Amino acid sequence: MSTVTFRGLSKSYGTTEVIRDLDLSIASGSFTTILGPSGSGKTTILSMIAGIAAVTSGRIEVDGRDISALPAAARNIGVVFQSYALFPHLTVADNIAFPLRLRRMGRDAIRRKVDEMLRLVRMEGLADRKPDALSGGQQQRVAIARALVFDPDILLLDEPLSALDRKLREEVREEIHRIQRSLGITTIMVTHDQEEALSLSDAVVVLNDGLVQQCDAPQGVYRRPSNRFVATFLGTANLFDAEVSGGSGDRAVELCGRRLPLRVDAATGPAVAMLRPDRIALADEGGAGAGGPGVEITRSVFLGGTMQYTTRLDDGTEVQVHVMGEAEPRPVGSRARLDWAPEDIWLLPAEPAARHV
Ligand code: ADP
Ligand code: MG
Repeated sequence: MSTVTFRGLSKSYGTTEVIRDLDLSIASGSFTTILGPSGSGKTTILSMIAGIAAVTSGRIEVDGRDISALPAAARNIGVVFQSYALFPHLTVADNIAFPLRLRRMGRDAIRRKVDEMLRLVRMEGLADRKPDALSGGQQQRVAIARALVFDPDILLLDEPLSALDRKLREEVREEIHRIQRSLGITTIMVTHDQEEALSLSDAVVVLNDGLVQQCDAPQGVYRRPSNRFVATFLGTANLFDAEVSGGSGDRAVELCGRRLPLRVDAATGPAVAMLRPDRIALADEGGAGAGGPGVEITRSVFLGGTMQYTTRLDDGTEVQVHVMGEAEPRPVGSRARLDWAPEDIWLLPAEPAARHV
C-alpha cells in the first residue's frame, strides 16, 4: 500500500505552465479520481507520476520517498492508457506476460502469474486470442491485467472507459471497481466524465486549467462544491444571485423573494446560491404549504426513471428540476410551484473562481 503526495508540483511546456503548484495527498489503498475538462492537465499529472514526463518543479513522494528523479522502470507503477496500446501481434497471455519478460522472470513463474491475472480480469478462456479478436471491453481488461501483473504499488488509469460504448463502459467500470477493491491497490484514475468519477471514487480531485479546485468525497464535490466551476462541471446546477443577511447565529439568505434561515454563519453580502435539480420538487400552484416561487414548465425530457423539466420563473430565470418516478408528467405550458428545503441550498462565493492568466 502506498500514499502518493504531491508537493508544489508544477509542469511547464516552454513558457506555458500546465500544472500549477499542486499540493495533494492521495490515501494509501484509495481510489482517487482526477476530474477535469479536456486540456486541464490530467494526463500530464499521470505522466509525471509514471515517470514518462519530467517534473518542472516540486516533487512527487510515494510513502514519503521522493520519486521525481527515478526512471520510469524503477517506480513500480502500473499504467493503463486511454488507447489500450496492446501489442497486436501478441496473444492475450503474451501481452500480459510482457512486463514479466522485461523483468526476466522465469517461465513457470510467468505462467502462474499470467493465469492469476486472467482469473482476476475474468478472461480465462481467451488466453490465446489476439487483441483484434476481442471486444473493446475485453481489450481494456487485458490492458488492466498487463498493468497489474508485476504487483505494482500504484495503478494509474488514463480515461480507461472513454473508448467504450455506454453499456460496455458500465461493465468495465464495475470490473475496475471490483479489481481495485479486491487488491486494495492505491489507484489514480483521470477522467472528464463526472458520472465515472462519482461512481468509482473514494476521493475526487477537480482540476481546471492546471489548478486543483476541490478535493473531497464524491458527495462532497457534488453537494458542497467550492466554487462555480465545480458546481457546474459536476452535473446540473441552478445558480441564483442571493443576499446573505442577519446577525451571527441568525443568518438568512434572500432567494427568489423568500427569506430562508441558514445553518452556517456565511459571510453577509452578495453570494451565489446553488440548488441541484434533484433537490427541487414541483407542487401544484394553488396547493397547500409555505410555497416557493411559481413557474411555467417550458420543456420536459423523459429519461425513463427521471423526468427533466425546464421551468421559468416570472422574472425569466430558468430553473432545472429533475423528478424521479412520476406517475403522470406535467404538461409543457402548465404552471407549478417550486419547493425545496432550506438545507438543500449551498452557498458559493459571489465572484467567479479566480483564474491565473
Ligand atoms: P488532459 O489530459 O486533461 O486533457 P493534458 O495533460 O493532456 O490534458 O494537457 C494539458 C495541457 O498541456 C494542454 O494545454 C496541452 O496542450 C498541453 N500539453 C500536453 N502535452 C504537451 C507537450 N508534450 N508539449 C506541449 N504542450 C503539451
Ligand atoms: Mg488526457
